[in-house]
Amino acid sequence: MAKYTAADCRQCRREGQKLFLKGERCTSKKCSVERRPAAPGQHGTGRRKPSEYSLQLREKQKVKRAYGLLEKQFRAYYVEAVRVKGITGENILFLLEKRLDNVVYRMGIGSSRAQSRQIVNHGHITVNGKSVNIPSYQVKAGDIISVKESKKDCEIFKELRGANITMPKWVEFDTDTLIGKILQNPERDDIDRSFNEQLIVELYSK
Ligand code: SF4
Repeated sequence: MAKYTAADCRQCRREGQKLFLKGERCTSKKCSVERRPAAPGQHGTGRRKPSEYSLQLREKQKVKRAYGLLEKQFRAYYVEAVRVKGITGENILFLLEKRLDNVVYRMGIGSSRAQSRQIVNHGHITVNGKSVNIPSYQVKAGDIISVKESKKDCEIFKELRGANITMPKWVEFDTDTLIGKILQNPERDDIDRSFNEQLIVELYSK
């Protein structure tokens, strides 16, 4: 699968905030945004007032990078968000949140979305008892998400046993059985409030 390869921390510095792309490092003192908050490059500390277009573009890049998507994939979510009922901006975020790789991340099975995607890609996850190795798979309320029985003894999953994981209210995950459930659809308050989805809609609807 195609993959965006710019250094993770550089992406956060470019967007001026933590995008939590590197697991544990993101909550440690090693986080580059905390150590070097200026945008990367020669003009990183410039103070020019950004144009409306630039604000819209940066917001789109920020959300796209947070979920680890390429432009074509991200735009497809906009197209789908326009098609379904509801507020387009919120729909984009809901579709992103309900990706299987994001759910694996939200449940704490993977420490970052990138690691969670790899876990899904490697066929370690089942949905309602069936193996699913498609990171973009859309979950729905009531789905049972589980670490595959034959993989539960892998080191990465053994470390989860008994761990205290903070997760949003729309998912639950039992760290003893390694089985989780989608309790309801995500709501706007469950998603990063720093995302301004309206700017993304404005950008794409030009
Ligand atoms: Fe971003 Fe994490 Fe790197 Fe901090 S450590 S800059 S949050 S990827």
